[in-house]
This record gives sequence, C-alpha cells and structure tokens, in this order.
Amino acid sequence: MDYVYGPGRNHLFVPGPVNIPEPVIRAMNRNNEDYRSPAVPALTKTLLEDVKQIFKTTTGTPFLIPTTGTGAWESALTNTLSPGDRIVSFLIGQFSLLWIDQQQRLGFNVDVVESEWGQGANLDILASKLAADTAHTIKAVCIVHNETATGVTNNLAKVRRILDDYRHPALFLVDGVSSICALDFRMDEWGVDVALTGSQKALSLPTGMGIVCAGPRALEATKTAKSVRVFFDWNDYLKFYKLGTFWPYTPSIQLLYGLRTALDLIFEEGLDNVIARHARLGKATRLAVEAWGLKNCTQKEEWFSDTVTAVVVPPYIDSSEIVRRGWKRYNLSLGLGLNKVAGKVFRIGHLGNLNELQLLGCLAGVEMILKDVGYPVKLGSGVAAACAYLQNNTPLIPSRI
Ligand code: PLP
Repeated sequence: MDYVYGPGRNHLFVPGPVNIPEPVIRAMNRNNEDYRSPAVPALTKTLLEDVKQIFKTTTGTPFLIPTTGTGAWESALTNTLSPGDRIVSFLIGQFSLLWIDQQQRLGFNVDVVESEWGQGANLDILASKLAADTAHTIKAVCIVHNETATGVTNNLAKVRRILDDYRHPALFLVDGVSSICALDFRMDEWGVDVALTGSQKALSLPTGMGIVCAGPRALEATKTAKSVRVFFDWNDYLKFYKLGTFWPYTPSIQLLYGLRTALDLIFEEGLDNVIARHARLGKATRLAVEAWGLKNCTQKEEWFSDTVTAVVVPPYIDSSEIVRRGWKRYNLSLGLGLNKVAGKVFRIGHLGNLNELQLLGCLAGVEMILKDVGYPVKLGSGVAAACAYLQNNTPLIPSRI
C-alpha cells in the first residue's frame, strides 16, 4: 500500500534514488540465504570481478559495503589518510560541502577551494597549490565528479594532468556518486586512486550499498594511514577475500542479486551505450530548458551534467512550489534546490534506468507546473525541442537490432 497513493506511475525524476528496473526488482524478490554457504561467495566473486568494469579499471580492488555514498566517502578517507593530513578539496555545491564537512570532522587539514555554485572546481588554484607544494605536504586531492546539487561535472582528466605536470604524489580521491555508470569515467586512465558510488544512483538499485574501488596506491596507503576505522576497514574485507568467503559481516543478500542483474542489464546495453544514452537525455533536457526561456544553473557548457539539470527560476517564483505542485498534481517527483540555491532552482534528475519517452513525460509535466505557478511558458515548447533532438538522435535499442 502506498503511503499516499497517486494513480499511475510516479514519475521519479529526483537525481537519486532513481527508478529500479523490473528485472532487478524481480531478482531481489527472494528469501534470505546463509551467506557462508557456497552460493553467496560464488555470486560475490562474479560481482567483484564484474563491478570493475563500471569503474573502467583492471588494477582496482572493489569493496561492496553495506552503506550509502556518505559511508563510501568515509571509507575512502579513513583507509588512506591520517588525522592532520593536508588535503585539497573543492567546494562547488551541497554534496562537495558535505564531503568537506566530513573531512573536517574526521580531523584532516582541509584546504578548501571554493567556487560560486554553478561553476566547476577551480583547477587553476589546484595547479598553483601543487606548484607551491614542493615538500609534498598535500596528501590527497578530493573532488566530486558530478555535483548533484548544481548539475556541474568536473574535468577529472584535467586534474590528473595537473597532478602529473607537477609530479605530485597526492592521492586522487573521487566521489562518483552521481556519475559512475552514467558519465564517462576512467579510473585507470585518469589515475584515480579511490573512486566510489552508491547503489541508488546510476546503478538503479535500492539504497544501501556503497561501491568503493581502491587502486594499488590507495591499498599501499592503508598500511600507514592512522585514521581510526572499524566498520569501513578494507583490511577486514581483504582478509575474507583471501579466505574466499568474502564477507567480514552480513551482506544484504537481496542487494547482491539485484547488483548481479543491474550489471547484466548494463552490460547487455553496453556501458558506452549507457553513457551515450545519458548524454542524449542530458542534451534533450537542456534544449527544453532553453526553449522555456529558463537558465541552467551550470554556468558554462564545459561543466554541463548529463545526469542532472538544475533549472534556475525567475525571482518571483519559489522553486520549492514547483516541486510541491509536481508531486501533488502530476505525480511527478523533481529535485529541490539545496542550501544556497534553495527556492532558486529545481532539479531534473536524468540518470539510471530511464528512456526518452519517460523523460518527455517529465518535461511535459514541468511545462504544466511552470504555467501553474505563473511562468509564461508556451506549452509544448520544451517537449518539441527535446523531441526534435531525440527523434534525430535516438538509436535502435542495442538488444533489439
Ligand atoms: N555525493 C553525491 C555527489 C551525491 O549526490 C550524494 C547524494 O545524493 C552523496 C554523495 C551522498 O550519498 P548518500 O545520500 O547515499 O549518502
């Protein structure tokens, strides 16, 4: 029974948690099992091997931790760093802010590089800090690949280039919570030392699994990292990996089967096709926003996000009212503006298991809501712009060719 029933499907367009595909729901609809039986380790072994593909790594070691993105952050930090370590971290929106808050509460010496919300990380400042740091006091560079609050995607290849230019050994720690499995992400090629995501984002699973991948330098760093860690200690996992039983504590059996199916669906579509689909949906959304005469919160094209678009509303409209209306009148769930941009933007999440026609439903809903709240939108204008683009650019479904 729904807590507050609405007829038809809820159009879920928050940028996580996202829609769960039917085959994944069915795969998870099962009883508990003894995780020490031979079946669960056998399944886990395939997951640990296959999940590396979504990070584009062959050298990384993945950990499937019963947690959320926030716990995955903590695991990345405490396994590789010691209290007092200097880290450079970029503040560009609510999620990078929360990660920085965690870094400070864990006792690191955080060198915060702040940009206006709507801009990407200021990499010129990173270059100047690395250039000045000949003594290598900076132990890690932490960056959110895709800032979900503002719809800004940072250029990770450029971060790697800057680290290499200064031959700086700082670890490169990346929050890929709203990017991995949706945006182009290359752990090995970009020399990322720790990357992480959460199950409820582009993997399209329920919340509850943090997926963390540690490169060889990060694993080496655990040997000297003095941060207190218990639940998130990678060494406990590694001990059980060696034993072949894999789990230091009880995993969610249902989520493991869900992850198996989620990965199978992604591989069947093809990871690069999944990424291209996100690029298409992102572009269609931006065309609709433009046709409505509204602004993207993201200030430059180079930072446009293909997983979430934050739409700026005129000052006479409260964007929270748009979100409230969507839910109350059209069974449409949009993302609120957070913190500094509360009331000023609403967010359209276009990530995970989603297709063109679903997106058009959302865009049609947004148009009606805009009219409801007094914005002079021409009904159909955004949908037409998105349709024109999608009709030209949507390929045949790979499995149906
Ligand atoms: N990082 C980013 C980029 C996010 O978008 C979120 C949540 O939306 C988080 C971290 C925190 O993840 P969680 O809510 O799963 O702890």
